[in-house]
Amino acid sequence: MEDKLNKVVSLCKRRGFVFQSSEIYGGLKSAYDYGPLGVELKRNIAAEWWQNMVTEREDIVGLDASIFMHQDVWRASGHLAGFSDPLVDCNNCKERFRADKAPQKKVGDPLTYLKGGKNGAQELKGTVPSVGYICPKCGAGDLSDERQFNLMFRTSLGPVDFIENLAEAVQGKNYTKKELKQVFEEILTPSSVYMRPETAQAMFVQFMNVQQTTSMKIPFGIAQQGKSFRNEITTEKFIFRTCEFEQMEMEFFVEPGSQTKWHEYWLEERLNWWKKYANNPEDFNTREHEADELAHYSDRCFDIEYKYPWGWDELEGVASRTDYDLKKHSEHAKTKLSYFDPVKIDPESGKTGYRYTPYVIEPAAGLTRGLLAYLLDSYTEEKGVDSKGNEKTRTLLKLHPRLAPIKAAILPLTKKDNLPELGRDIMKKFLASGIAAKYDETQSIGKRYSKHDEAGTAYCLTVDHQSLEDSTVTIRDRDTTKQERISIDEAIDVVQKRLITL
Ligand SMILES: [Zn+2]
Repeated sequence: MEDKLNKVVSLCKRRGFVFQSSEIYGGLKSAYDYGPLGVELKRNIAAEWWQNMVTEREDIVGLDASIFMHQDVWRASGHLAGFSDPLVDCNNCKERFRADKAPQKKVGDPLTYLKGGKNGAQELKGTVPSVGYICPKCGAGDLSDERQFNLMFRTSLGPVDFIENLAEAVQGKNYTKKELKQVFEEILTPSSVYMRPETAQAMFVQFMNVQQTTSMKIPFGIAQQGKSFRNEITTEKFIFRTCEFEQMEMEFFVEPGSQTKWHEYWLEERLNWWKKYANNPEDFNTREHEADELAHYSDRCFDIEYKYPWGWDELEGVASRTDYDLKKHSEHAKTKLSYFDPVKIDPESGKTGYRYTPYVIEPAAGLTRGLLAYLLDSYTEEKGVDSKGNEKTRTLLKLHPRLAPIKAAILPLTKKDNLPELGRDIMKKFLASGIAAKYDETQSIGKRYSKHDEAGTAYCLTVDHQSLEDSTVTIRDRDTTKQERISIDEAIDVVQKRLITL
């Protein structure tokens, strides 16, 4: 099955969906460029999401926030913790914690703890390791080395000459390593900015601005698409895990107590959305996070998973984030991020008018992962025979026509007898109508059909000699290869109607 991934990777390169970044220089590890077809597919998936989540709904509005945000945003959200403090992983319960906050114990003292964490059945014995602390969660001494966990990419804003400043600060001084780190931090920190590791925080930070300018009433959502960056230690599986990726996130603000209902609603909505464009909807499913997988801010989380060639893996997370983020930003920014309902009765005071911090349901989808999932879902090999009776395999991308980079290819049967001129005329009409079309007259008609099958082109319109006589063309369906004759005047309508009704 890993074979299928290789086939899709090779088709992506051959047809111009995805290229290795900086390929002529030997490539940059885990960075990819979306080629002429890939960028269209990506934009189409993003547009369908926006249409479904924002345009067609009255209760969700959009946002397009800056990638750089004030560094205090990341301090409040918890992303900066561990950036300059060493973190340790517990090999027993998988907890990641700050070494300086862990319970300090005498080296060599005996320990007992449960295998796998607090729900473990088997009791294990050990001793306090040489670092002098144990896991704060399960009490084990089986720990990883301390390391800086730099998930966020750090850079600086403003014309600061760090090399000069650093050189000046240490010139002629005899600092210890610890002192050096402190001096460097003092120089770097004031102008430090981080490339956002998720798009979500901007929706929390701008909650009041959005709510007040739109007068949205709870429940309502703020949606955003955009790039996020994580300095992943392991990047793998083509575009599945990359340091630079694109997200489609929505924060849905609800009244405390109604989060379970809304969580279930969004889980079902999102799963159905993914299935709508799939050839094999059974390859999309949900999986609930175990208690020890849950992020500290979440009271419940499901992953929407796709059955990749290497097994079920994440496509989207649908998390119930409680009021954690809004409360943290209220605290750090010393601004009340809350909502006032003038009609509702305050459950505590019994009076009319209820001010509360909303709870949040967050469907957070990976756009680039979605693109990979749909490429894998649509990749098809069909065995058949050609006109000479030889066995051959037809490779095609059965992309949903609304996702297909090219909706219609206009193909004159030959390059003579005025067929190209008529083809160009039809092409002009398609472009004027806003349908993504491609005019193509090179190679034999059979080769052109194969090429467009691999590109996922939904329909091929062929201009032949009969077209000159009766103003008709043939329209070929990619999935069935069946052809029918339609009038040239109707061609745009026919294609448009098929796209709308799907
Ligand atoms: Zn532990």
